[in-house]
Amino acid sequence: MCGIVAYLGDKDAFPVLIKGLKRLEYRGYDSAGIALIEEGDINLYKCKGKVSDLEDHIGGKSVRGTVGIGHTRWATHGEPNDINAHPHTSESGNLAIIHNGIIENYASLKEELTQRGHTFKSDTDTEVLIHLIEDIQEREGVKLGEAVRIALNGVIGAYAIVVIDKDRPKRLIAAKKSSPLVIGIGEDDFYLASDATPIIEYTKNVVYLNDEEIAILDLDKGLKLVNIANQEKTPYIQELELKLEALEKGGYEHFMLKEIHEQPRSIADCLRGRINSLQGRVQLGGIKDYEDKIAKANRVIMVACGTSWHAGLVGEYLFEDLARVPVEVEYASEFRYRNPIITENDVVIAISQSGETADTLAAIKMAKERGATIIGICNVVGSTISRETHGGSYTHAGPEIGVASTKAFTAQVTVLTLMALSIAKKKGVIEESRFRRLLIELENIPSKVEEVLKINSQVEFIADIYKDANNALYLGRGLNFPVALEGALKLKEISYIHAEGYPAAEMKHGPIALIDEAMPVFVIATKDASYEKIVSNIQEVKARKGKIIAIVTEGDETVKGIADHTIEIPETDDSLVPLLATIPFQLLSYHIAVMRGCNVDQPRNLAKSVTVE
Ligand code: GLU
Repeated sequence: MCGIVAYLGDKDAFPVLIKGLKRLEYRGYDSAGIALIEEGDINLYKCKGKVSDLEDHIGGKSVRGTVGIGHTRWATHGEPNDINAHPHTSESGNLAIIHNGIIENYASLKEELTQRGHTFKSDTDTEVLIHLIEDIQEREGVKLGEAVRIALNGVIGAYAIVVIDKDRPKRLIAAKKSSPLVIGIGEDDFYLASDATPIIEYTKNVVYLNDEEIAILDLDKGLKLVNIANQEKTPYIQELELKLEALEKGGYEHFMLKEIHEQPRSIADCLRGRINSLQGRVQLGGIKDYEDKIAKANRVIMVACGTSWHAGLVGEYLFEDLARVPVEVEYASEFRYRNPIITENDVVIAISQSGETADTLAAIKMAKERGATIIGICNVVGSTISRETHGGSYTHAGPEIGVASTKAFTAQVTVLTLMALSIAKKKGVIEESRFRRLLIELENIPSKVEEVLKINSQVEFIADIYKDANNALYLGRGLNFPVALEGALKLKEISYIHAEGYPAAEMKHGPIALIDEAMPVFVIATKDASYEKIVSNIQEVKARKGKIIAIVTEGDETVKGIADHTIEIPETDDSLVPLLATIPFQLLSYHIAVMRGCNVDQPRNLAKSVTVE
């Protein structure tokens, strides 16, 4: 996944690169590295670990140079160590590269290059690419930009790359395919990065590189774009809307905690301008032209990964129940390799926080080729998925930095609710009174989330009791089954406790065998249509001495009488319960992880935006 950043100008590059890498660390933190052109030489500074380790590694050395590249790695090829850390250099050492992605045919390229006398220091696919570029440059006698173009024509895989040449300190070459790359255009300098966060404080003017485009940045000649077929392209300069404050921790100990607490506002931002309960109106501008298509769709296929997939499962209940549209929810990685049957009457909804998730992107490209209408639900404005879709709605949750998704999930569920309501209205399948009631309830959700957040210290108390558990079970029914899945995922990813989410009634078909006095069972037992049934499921757990921690509706007495702990959430419409019930689970995972000494914002082996397949 990796984060890449580069600077070309007349300022000191080092601080720009280090700051940029810190902003991109959510994308990977196996190793970090920087290459700078200093007095006609490329100097490399790189090591295993985080950007702070790189800073320690560099120590008090005076690092100069006004052109440089930086990388924070999420290893795909070769273990995370000093040698495999990026940047990588060419055979002669004249060129250096940073890369986000995978060169799938690196083994055969490496073999060819080895036969031609190249020797490699690392196990990475990336090092092969920079050797290939130099090899072409020398064999064909072409300039660096052209060598990059020819090399990329022979590469299979995904890349966002930046290449520097020690003999040309006023130039950079960058290119991308399937991995993101943004170019910031300064007064008289350039900034490049995997997303806009390292760029925002220097310039608001950016160009999002498209797939298979190569950018040649020259301090004297400016920016030139060509594609890998060598056609010149016109750069489309856009203005960034991102705000710098949104990228800081704002007094919270971790980004995850800050983002959990931002949910009243992020949900409100997501609803803003889109509903009006007084006028009985829902409108999502980005899908207006496709609402008919969705309403009449053969089926809607939601494709996503991880937490976004859970949001899709909530969406399935909402679309089917409210809008009476048949829905399937697919793991993007499975869907794309299954040769699925897709027709022009299908609508594919891609859900991705970053809008860069590689499998989701590949899935929608395939579905698009087969004629489906593609709708996106993304958080990052201008992201690749948002640009690949026919229409869509942004979640407007603001930048999510914590690797474990929280506010992006609730914003995705909010958008899916709005979409379901809008389609339901269009089809005329929802009673006006229910429609209006849901709009009012939706408008009340931000303040109810605010209420839920007040249980923080109670959740902390419960976290302390169960922090040493080795396993946990999460149960829910109906719309709350995906909430159980999401609760289990949150616990797994940041506290490293094995947890499973299950439909409560399915427990009898297997997981019940796991229950003993050491097993905490987290249950969503709010007052809805399946309340009686879930109370029975709780009894089944208690009969086997399991510990029950139940999320209940305010004022509930029945479950309180049986459960070991209850967490109350305000009453709302059944369809909106996931937006509230998910929050105690976020807080619980957060506190357990902190108590276990885990790195909450950067859990081991994970990265936020999964831009590799
Ligand atoms: N394939 C490169 C490596 O392993 C880059 C990884 C990535 O972007 O995720 O070093």
